[in-house]
Amino acid sequence: MNGEPLKTVYLKPREADRLRAGHPWVYYGEITPLREPITDGECVQVLDSRNHLVGCGLFNSKSKIRVRLLSRREKLTLNTEFFKNRIETALEVRRHAMPGATSFRVVNAESDFLSGLIIDKYEDVLVLQTTSLGMDQRKPLIVEALKEIFHPTAVLEKNDSPSRTFEGMEMVHSTLYGTAPAGDQLIRLNQLQFKVNFDSGHKTGCYLDQQVNYKKVGDMAAGARVLDCFCFLGGFALHAAKGGAREVIGIDQSETAIKTASEGAKLNNLSGCTFINANAFDWLIEHAKNTEIEQKDLFDLIILDPPSFTRNRHSVDAALNGYKEIHLRALKLLRPGGTLATFCCSHHVDTQSFQNVILNAAFDAHKILRRTHIYSQSPDHPIIPVIPETEYLKGFAFEVAK
Ligand code: SAH
Repeated sequence: MNGEPLKTVYLKPREADRLRAGHPWVYYGEITPLREPITDGECVQVLDSRNHLVGCGLFNSKSKIRVRLLSRREKLTLNTEFFKNRIETALEVRRHAMPGATSFRVVNAESDFLSGLIIDKYEDVLVLQTTSLGMDQRKPLIVEALKEIFHPTAVLEKNDSPSRTFEGMEMVHSTLYGTAPAGDQLIRLNQLQFKVNFDSGHKTGCYLDQQVNYKKVGDMAAGARVLDCFCFLGGFALHAAKGGAREVIGIDQSETAIKTASEGAKLNNLSGCTFINANAFDWLIEHAKNTEIEQKDLFDLIILDPPSFTRNRHSVDAALNGYKEIHLRALKLLRPGGTLATFCCSHHVDTQSFQNVILNAAFDAHKILRRTHIYSQSPDHPIIPVIPETEYLKGFAFEVAK
């Protein structure tokens, strides 16, 4: 790398356009056989079939994504300075879009031109995920850059993403710098405090991608009786309580999540919250099965934010059935004039298909829906439309006609 010319990967004819438009992934089927040996994780340049530069990036022979482009320029020196610059640029976006936020995603991989790298900030603790071999090998440089920018108390790696296996890497949890918090880390999302556990928590700890939606949905809850299905730490439930809900019920099948959500209500001095450890499908069926549901049992606001029912294209139909089922049950428990706030975090289910499923459920439930809000992932998870994989979270609020 130091002054030495980069080794070259050549594209087959007609494979450059998608990359030139901004997508950083060069697939194995798009390149010609290597003309010289290249070590996995090495920085390479990519040329099109006419020998024109497409960009530079990190190579891995074990991955279907052979090169992840990091630059469109001729040279790429991956040192602390490079990472500092990229991270500071990403930070600017967050400062503009989420002023005052103290816990958020600092780097969202492809969305921040750092394919294979995720960095989340939980107050003064940073949590890192590396999903490409090239990035993984450069963790010391990244940690150095993070120390200079944030002066964190700890930098942790929570590398438990199954996609690491596609790059020939193991899953690993470790402390890269400083001292990991003993037990839970207290963080602030909007005006509320949450306890996040880096060992048991989902993703790097919690769902930072819903931060702006928590507030938007919570602001609709004044005076409402609210049901938060798949509540995890109670992100929506606690924001609804803060927004003035008269009663909030949260449901999750994880006992740990329910315990933490209940503690969260106390921590924030929020009353009227009940968290129930149950399967949301069963709970909804149980409560919606009476043909004559009493008025007092109906909800003014129901939130559905289930896990992704599909991780790949092949199980989309099964996932859509699952989505239809919960919407059908939820609509039965919503009072006329009430609101359903519903989310889908699967990249493989597009916005239109998701809305269609909800409308099918409404048809079966004999309800007419009026759409009042469209939601997306928080702006610390930016979307680059030419990289469709960066867009995954979608949501709607629908009011049920009286
Ligand atoms: N709304 C949450 C995120 C939900 S993630 C938030 O914003 O933080 C999905 C959650 O659904 C997880 O906490 C998981 O434990 C829970 N879950 C998965 N399947 C479930 C089921 N069948 N019934 C109830 N909870 C379920």
